[in-house]
Order: sequence, then C-alpha cells, then structure tokens
Amino acid sequence: MSTATLSIDLDAIAANWRALDSMSDPGTQTAAVVKADAYGLGADRVAKALAKAGARRFFVAVAEEGAVVRQALGPGPQISILAGHQPGDTDMIHDLDLTPMLNSIDQVTRHLESLPGHPFGIQLDTGMNRLGMEADEWAAVAEYVLAAAPELLMSHLACADEPGNPMNAQQLATFHALTDGTGIPRSLAATGGILLGHEYHFDLTRPGIGLYGGAPYADAYPVVRLSLPVIQTRIVEPGEIVGYGSTWIAEGHATVATLSGGYADGLPRTLSNRALLWDEDTPCPLIGRVSMDLITADISHLKQAPRALEIIGRHQGIDALADLAGTIGYEILTSLSARYTRRYTGSAA
Ligand SMILES: *Cc1c(COP(=O)(O)O)cnc(C)c1O
Repeated sequence: MSTATLSIDLDAIAANWRALDSMSDPGTQTAAVVKADAYGLGADRVAKALAKAGARRFFVAVAEEGAVVRQALGPGPQISILAGHQPGDTDMIHDLDLTPMLNSIDQVTRHLESLPGHPFGIQLDTGMNRLGMEADEWAAVAEYVLAAAPELLMSHLACADEPGNPMNAQQLATFHALTDGTGIPRSLAATGGILLGHEYHFDLTRPGIGLYGGAPYADAYPVVRLSLPVIQTRIVEPGEIVGYGSTWIAEGHATVATLSGGYADGLPRTLSNRALLWDEDTPCPLIGRVSMDLITADISHLKQAPRALEIIGRHQGIDALADLAGTIGYEILTSLSARYTRRYTGSAA
C-alpha cells in the first residue's frame, strides 16, 4: 500500500468532549463543532462518536455540512448552521431540520418569511467583525426578533486563545449588554473561551479544536497519528543532493528514504529541511524539499529500512508540526489529505 495511514482515535475525541463538558457547570450544555468535515477527520464517524459520548447539539459552517451530519445522526440531535439562512438553503433547512444562526437583518427577514415557526438562533457581533449583527442592527430588530422566540443568542471571541488579551473582557461586556434580560439561552465560548473560565460559559459552549486534540486545550488527549509509507530507499555519496532545488547535500554516505506524502496531502512545503519523522522512538530528519507527493528523510542511523515513518503522533503532535511549518494546528488538521487511508480506532469505531 502506498498511501499514508491516518489513525483517528474516536475514544480520545469522546474523552476530550467529556473533559471539556466537565469544565462548565452542569447547567451549561456542551455542543460539538464538526464543521469542515470535523476538522478533516470525517464528520460522519466523528459526529456519531460524539453523539454516543452524550453530545446533543452540533455546529457546522454551512447547510451542506449540516446535511452530512443529519444523515449520520438521524433525527433528534440539533444541528446549527453558523452561516445562517443563506439564499437557496430554505428547503434543506426545512427538510433536514437544521437550525440557522441568523447573522443579519436580511437573514432574519428571509427566515421568518420563508419558514415561520422554524427554530433559529441569532449571531451577534461583539467586536470580531466577521459574522453577526452589529449592536445598532440588533437594537433595531431585537424586539421583533425576540417575539419570534430565538432558541439561542450567540457570539464568538476573537482572541480567546490569549487569556491576557483585553479583547476577551471587552467582548464579554458587549455580549452582556446585548443579551442581558432577554431570557434566551446564550453562547459565547469555543475551546479557548471554555478555558477562560465560568463567566464565559453561559448556557452553551461550542468546542471544536479541543475535541480534536489541539491548542489551546493543552491537556487534550492526542487524536491523530499519521504514518507515511517508505516507497524507496537509496544510498547517496558525499556531495550528492536530495530533492528539488538541491537544498540538502550529503556530508558523508547517507541512506535516504522516500516516503509517500507531500504538500498535496497537506504537509506544508515550509516543513522542508525542518520536521522530524519517527521510527518508533527514533527521530529521522526530514531532508530536502517537501514535494507534491513525496518527502525524503535521512535514515542512515537506522539498522534497517522501516516500512513507514510517523510524521504526526506521540513525538510530534499537530501543534508541534504546525509550529515548524509556521501555521496552526487547525490548518494542519483541516488540510489532511483525502488520499490518506483513514483508520478509526477506539470502542466507538
Ligand atoms: C470554529 C468555531 C467554533 C469552534 O472553535 P474552536 O476554536 O475550534 O473551539 C465555535 N464557534 C464558532 C462561531 C466558530 O466559527
């Protein structure tokens, strides 16, 4: 087999959900964010495992993703759409019982006119300026909207992964100002917001990255392992080069392994000459440029050529790899290739 294997531990995802759930009061519900195919790990399998762990409410970015999650879960669990009620989504929202988080006056009008009585939430902008109604828009329609009984008022924090950032307290105060006294359930915190403490939790939290083992949730159980098969080995002489641009030059005799997996598979080219690959506990330096489908490693010090080397795992997690590549764990996860063979492990698998 010459495609890499991505192992996804569904028990670890379930354990991370339970741990994040236990950080807020029993009266606070913990949802699960499964947008972008559950951060690249497979929305179908992941949503089922989370439902089994006790999650009753799911968030996705767009209605099409909601359809996949509804297919996996069947009727019952609530599926919320962060993009709200977009033109053309009305039938899907109705037929699959999706709950749009309306983020503009236009969307409120569209929703209440096309699907009167169908559940919806409201997304408010508290300073991130990305999605949601601004304070003045909300002031103009709040009375009308509240009369239609939204089931959630939500907003999103811009800097929750930095506990010391004054933006957090500022957004919290704005959220209170926009929603106090409405009597409607409220949600402000994603993973970072859960870690900021109880005053950020309100009635519902919406963790995503923490479920999948990523920062800022430092205590998360690791979820993914990525193993790249060695498809050729060779010995190079001193002075010979490896890879595009001759960026690595052998100082002595070296054994070079060529592995299946490259930037087309979500292994950033910025990892060239930087990351390590692992044969069990033995590190092997990634040498030369990452190319589209292939990566090369120096295995001179190994007793025999391994069948595969691990690039994400116990020794180098998604955030460590992200640091080396100059990105974040979220991007490493959501770029994981469709070419990888996904192997689900754990009792939920
Ligand atoms: C992506 C997202 C989340 C989840 O965020 P994490 O940082 O992955 O926990 C929650 N709420 C909204 C609005 C989002 O866009």
